[in-house]
Amino acid sequence: DVRGDAGGDESSVLVAVRVRPLNSTERSQGDQGVLYCPGQGTILVNNGVQDRAFNFDAVFEAGSSQHEVFEQCGVKRLIDLAADGFSCTVFGFGQTGSGKTYTITGPHSLFSDGLRERSFYGLMQRSFAYLLDRVQAKEGDFVLSASYLEIYNEQVHDLLNPGLTDSLTIRWTKNTGFYVENLSNVEFESLDSVMALLEGGIGSRQTSSHSQNQQSSRSHSIFTVYIESEVAHPDGRGGYLARHGKLCMVDLAGSERVKETGSSGELMEEAGNINRSLLTLGNCISALVDPRKREGHIPYRDSKLTKLLADSLGGSGVTLMIACISPATMNLQETMNTLRYASRAK
Ligand code: ADP
Ligand code: MG
Repeated sequence: DVRGDAGGDESSVLVAVRVRPLNSTERSQGDQGVLYCPGQGTILVNNGVQDRAFNFDAVFEAGSSQHEVFEQCGVKRLIDLAADGFSCTVFGFGQTGSGKTYTITGPHSLFSDGLRERSFYGLMQRSFAYLLDRVQAKEGDFVLSASYLEIYNEQVHDLLNPGLTDSLTIRWTKNTGFYVENLSNVEFESLDSVMALLEGGIGSRQTSSHSQNQQSSRSHSIFTVYIESEVAHPDGRGGYLARHGKLCMVDLAGSERVKETGSSGELMEEAGNINRSLLTLGNCISALVDPRKREGHIPYRDSKLTKLLADSLGGSGVTLMIACISPATMNLQETMNTLRYASRAK
């Protein structure tokens, strides 16, 4: 394979922030919100005393639409790269209830009520449509396939084969890096068929009740699209070049602290695993964006999440973090934590 540096002069990690709107409870309590978006990628947080400014590649204020987020967050660049044989990752980070799932897959209602309102489509559906268009317009043979897994309490489950109750094993070889043994990989050719995979997988995601949010997701999910292609070799001698592109779309577990959710016992262990994987992810990314550390040891092995994202994060593709935040006064602490976490990736 011939692979250049997809990043070029541009950064290999992009960070966007999306503010969700105040919900009806927060508004009825008279909450004015603590966030201001003056434009140009800046977000201001008012803690009641002063404003603190953070800068990112993109900031989406509460009124922004799914369409605007897709068009302006940078994900199209990742899809273009993935179609050209690079590995890219998009992930949504933030506390439970901050809009990660809304942003990545679209709101729950899109699936649970059988509501197929396109304007609600998240980054995934829009990315699938864009990718299929791109691939159809390109020269060469393309084969697309997908896998969808969940990491719940450090156990890996195949969301495309929910009948299989045993968790799957992560293995490593020198040639392939980390991979999940026996994970389903399903080929698709149309938007309908990849949407059906997403929908089926969402139906089998594990959730359990939680004092902070009944629908809270305490698992990480990774939907991966594999883009295998054979294109004419650029040397023009009539040979072919095989490329293996990949786009991982990750909906992370909530980043809130254990103490604030009143978790105990089994849930505490679960929360500990979530914190460890999110901390490890943050450590990997902040090492990757530092040119001095990038060539050194990156702690992928410290969590299953980072093992599975290792080649995608550490390759020559691009990673996009979408930090999701709540504007509500009561979430100020977690909002600050999320903005600090997102700032480490810059
Ligand atoms: P998370 O996945 O981070 O726990 P959700 O995506 O489930 O959060 O969002 C929590 C609630 O807020 C849901 O009811 C969701 O529909 C709503 N919500 C989140 N982001 C937005 C947004 N940008 N616009 C409108 N509603 C939103
Ligand atoms: Mg969610």
